[in-house]
Amino acid sequence: MHSLTKVTLVLNGIGRRCVAMNRFSGARIICRGLLYDVIISGGGMVGTAMAWSLGTDPSLEGKKILLLEAGNKKVMDKVPDAYSTRVRSISPGSATLLSGVGAWNHIMNMRCKPCQKMQVWDACSDALITFDKENLQDEMAYIVENDIIVAALTKQLENLSDQVKVQYKTKVVMYTWPKSHQVAESIPWVQVTLANGQTFQSKLLIGADGPNLMVRQEAEIPTVKWNYDQSAVVAVLHL
Ligand SMILES: Cc1cc2nc3c(=O)[nH]c(=O)nc-3n(C[C@H](O)[C@H](O)[C@H](O)COP(=O)(O)OP(=O)(O)OC[C@H]3O[C@@H](n4cnc5c(N)ncnc54)[C@H](O)[C@@H]3O)c2cc1C
Repeated sequence: MHSLTKVTLVLNGIGRRCVAMNRFSGARIICRGLLYDVIISGGGMVGTAMAWSLGTDPSLEGKKILLLEAGNKKVMDKVPDAYSTRVRSISPGSATLLSGVGAWNHIMNMRCKPCQKMQVWDACSDALITFDKENLQDEMAYIVENDIIVAALTKQLENLSDQVKVQYKTKVVMYTWPKSHQVAESIPWVQVTLANGQTFQSKLLIGADGPNLMVRQEAEIPTVKWNYDQSAVVAVLHL
């Protein structure tokens, strides 16, 4: 931002906009839409927990934080009778983290099963490994449905409405990155474009948009992956 000589901020219908001139190139830098310090893209477990952590961090007091989630707000006044197959195995360490967020009590009050023993067999030999409570002294893990974790975190995030703005049913369709060299019509921050055409600017973008990770793909962050050529069945057993 040192090269900016003129910055105009005006308030309009959707928020702050700025127009600036690059001192050296004379290029016009435009930032369209409301400017946030942090935008978190994706409000699953990771994004919602991150939003809560940033919103309660004293060093970020006064910062403008926005969480964008494509889906509906996950509220759970009553736990559904049917179990969801999308579950997570929460380690004691992660349970401690969720306690710190204040979400663990909500989870325990909704539905959560401790896991005391786990046995893993090798498919190609007789080898097996068993973990149990005697060896590890503590619970091995807790099996919790994903929807319950997100609903618990969402409940906690509601308490931070002054610190974190949340928009549900809001899908991001494009990210526009700042260029290393300013060119005509370039932007100083990352620009987030929503499906409804609205745009936001952010100084920091956090990608929490799940396994397909549009943020990672568009930022061209490389990953290594391979296919195990294996299939799995996920089911709920009534014993
Ligand atoms: C059937 C199944 C079983 C599983 N079992 C286990 C298990 O036993 N143990 C375990 O640890 N894990 C398990 N997982 C994995 C676990 O659910 C995922 O690792 C976890 O949900 C990832 O969390 P996340 O917050 O990163 O992403 P997600 O939960 O995928 O959340 C991403 C969020 O981003 C939003 N989003 C995506 N794109 C956009 C966009 N363009 N704009 C705005 N919002 C967007 C989505 O709506 C979503 O809410 C399972 C997953 C599945 C599908």
